[in-house]
Amino acid sequence: IKKIAVLTSGGDAPGMNAAIRAVVRACTYYRIECVGVYRGYQGLIEGDFKTLSARHVSNIINKGGTILKSARSQEFKTTEGRAKAFQNLKEAGIGAIVLIGGDGTFTGGLKFIEEYNFPVVGIPGTIDNDIYGTDNTIGYDTALNTVVEVIDKIRDTASSHNRLFFIEVMGRDAGFIALNSGIGAGAEEILIPEKNLGLERLVDSLKKSKDKGKTSSIVVVSEGDKIGKNVFELADYINDNFPHYDIRVSVLGHMQRGGSPSCFDRVLASRLGVAAVEALLDRSTGVMVGITNNEVSTVGLNKAIKMNHDINEELLKVAEITSV
Ligand code: ATP
Repeated sequence: IKKIAVLTSGGDAPGMNAAIRAVVRACTYYRIECVGVYRGYQGLIEGDFKTLSARHVSNIINKGGTILKSARSQEFKTTEGRAKAFQNLKEAGIGAIVLIGGDGTFTGGLKFIEEYNFPVVGIPGTIDNDIYGTDNTIGYDTALNTVVEVIDKIRDTASSHNRLFFIEVMGRDAGFIALNSGIGAGAEEILIPEKNLGLERLVDSLKKSKDKGKTSSIVVVSEGDKIGKNVFELADYINDNFPHYDIRVSVLGHMQRGGSPSCFDRVLASRLGVAAVEALLDRSTGVMVGITNNEVSTVGLNKAIKMNHDINEELLKVAEITSV
């Protein structure tokens, strides 16, 4: 392999830039040309390429978002779109791609390998942590820290006014952000997509807390919580069935994706960027690089996208015990 392309795709995540930088510099180190592809798969289809030298990625390790931009490309989901992408890669003399993204990105990568037997290695970049085969995805740690910082601020208001706050955090299918930020920020209750705890249990728990002398409470709700109500309906329901608190709702939204990456995410991204280039040099393809038990690991892209939906019961128990 003489030329490697790198792209970021799907939702952006803090630390993607640190990963791009590591890929580019690993290429420089191993004397391979590195080509940046702009706007994910869409840029692959349109041939939006730029050769990146080690100096092109100066001063980005600390920046959120992605300098290569990201996109959701409908065209790449078609065989014609992927054929154009292959043609562009061939014409540019590119021999392999590093994909930085989530499960959708890896699904597209798998299709591409199937059709063109083109060498592809994935790096998990998503704040949701919903990828199998790595302990952490790039951006997850930063998002958790952002959420905890915001909940701490909301707690000041909650405790000053004896309020009950419902705080919606990201996570359509995975409750990692809700569960871990909830524990870290000392939430009263945590509602996640993996487990429907039911409305009655929630009312009951709030009643008990009130009886035990709590004057304010914070409930962290995952976007994809399966209780069957969105966070506003949930607040209305509690207001109707347990009208003892002044209730407020806060939807954190996209702020959770932004900001400077934590040191943890920068180190993770740097390790995975180097690992991805080394995996390609070892002729690996169709795999994702990850970190498992603090060591670089690889897993098939087909396995990486099959997230294990079992929740960590120990974490749920810790959340319960520490909110008595
Ligand atoms: P995040 O988890 O942060 O949302 P993601 O990688 O899952 O990231 P998606 O938008 O789901 O984000 O996927 C990124 C891109 O991958 C899509 O815009 C599309 O171009 C491509 N892709 C997704 N699914 C497929 C598929 N089944 N076939 C081909 N390409 C796909």
